[in-house]
Amino acid sequence: MDFDFDADQLEFVAEVRAFLDEVRQWPDAADIMCPERESDSILADTPARKAFNKELAKRGYLGMSWPQEYGGQGRPGIYEYLLNEELSRVGAPLIGKGVGCVGQTIIRHGSDKLKQEFLPKILRAEVEFALGYSEPHAGSDLAALKLRAEREAGGWRINGQKMFTTSAHFADWYWLAARTDFDAPKHKGISVFLVPMDQPGITIHPIETMGEHVTNQVFIDDVFVEDAYLVGELNRGWTYICEALDYERFTFYTFSPLEEKLFALRDLLRTAQRDGAPVIAEPHVRRRLAKLTAEVEMSKMLQRRVIYASSQGRVPSIEAAMCKLYSTSLHQRLADFALDSLGTEGLLHKDDAEAPAAGKWEWSYRATALDTIGAGTSEIQKNIIARRALELPLTY
Ligand SMILES: Cc1cc2nc3c(=O)[nH]c(=O)nc-3n(C[C@H](O)[C@H](O)[C@H](O)COP(=O)(O)OP(=O)(O)OC[C@H]3O[C@@H](n4cnc5c(N)ncnc54)[C@H](O)[C@@H]3O)c2cc1C
Repeated sequence: MDFDFDADQLEFVAEVRAFLDEVRQWPDAADIMCPERESDSILADTPARKAFNKELAKRGYLGMSWPQEYGGQGRPGIYEYLLNEELSRVGAPLIGKGVGCVGQTIIRHGSDKLKQEFLPKILRAEVEFALGYSEPHAGSDLAALKLRAEREAGGWRINGQKMFTTSAHFADWYWLAARTDFDAPKHKGISVFLVPMDQPGITIHPIETMGEHVTNQVFIDDVFVEDAYLVGELNRGWTYICEALDYERFTFYTFSPLEEKLFALRDLLRTAQRDGAPVIAEPHVRRRLAKLTAEVEMSKMLQRRVIYASSQGRVPSIEAAMCKLYSTSLHQRLADFALDSLGTEGLLHKDDAEAPAAGKWEWSYRATALDTIGAGTSEIQKNIIARRALELPLTY
């Protein structure tokens, strides 16, 4: 059994690494490549990070898996995954929702108008999207969403509220799931719209999280959307949302930050001192580090199973659930171990000049909780494993 990537894929990785070495010489490289950043390191949320994404576009790294007729290269999705691995290893923004769920859904289901308007902009990194799915009473049970889109001459009138929309404060367009049939079963009355974020009637309130990830509450009052900005068919939104999640699985769960954290922690514990000796000399610290090393390897294998299933054309719902559940809690265990090992100094905030490792681990301890919630909570991943892998009923 060969768990490695093939020669062409490894050559691609080397090419991306050479490109990232070039970017290290850019004046604003520290903003673009910031592995210490524990929150939002995947987002193009600053001018420097946006410029970086434009450079990715120029070099042909955006839309690699798209069909050639839409400006892509028709390459297997694994190249996008490999690119994202290298980007996330150095804390650079990832290729994003435009190339992923938005672009792929428009290619498969969008009208010619939407294709012409959005696909070239996505390929040139000229547009940022926010995904408006969750609502105050629709998170894990997303199909319960209540945002109302009501028919009017020439379009739709939208009213309601969204919760936890990442990127809403800097995105250009809102990929918005709304209820368009109020009598149909809940999965069958949802449609997806594209709405400009600067449209009057859209009010964005930031929500500060404990991990310093800024997400948003978005109020939508009497916003008119033309028919042309309905994505695909009316009331087929649930199918598109689920398909989009499948595209994300290929690129979303990068493994490299776990590996980088493990090595950074090992190096820190080599130099950190307790009672005049390196912390790493303590047997219980060595034992826990060895166990975590095995767990990081396990996380890599779980993630490779997601990639393998996807590359075989299967929807890796069980594999992805296991990988997300395991790797997000492993991020937490690493931070937990770091704080245990560093003692009280480890609790110093990154703004404190004396914080060990510039406060990364204290930040990590707070931020890693978020990933156990976003994109489906750990409990929901366990439900998927229970139902689909173990064939257990949801309730007894
Ligand atoms: C960092 C971050 C970024 C996010 N970005 C976005 C975004 O860009 N766009 C967007 O639309 N949303 C986004 N979200 C929202 C996210 O998808 C939801 O928070 C998540 O799906 C959980 O929904 P909820 O918060 O409503 O919690 P709820 O669904 O109300 O869950 C509350 C608790 O109950 C548990 N629970 C719920 N149902 C079950 C069940 N059936 N069995 C067992 N336990 C259950 C949950 O696990 C959780 O512990 C983001 C969230 C975070 C944390």
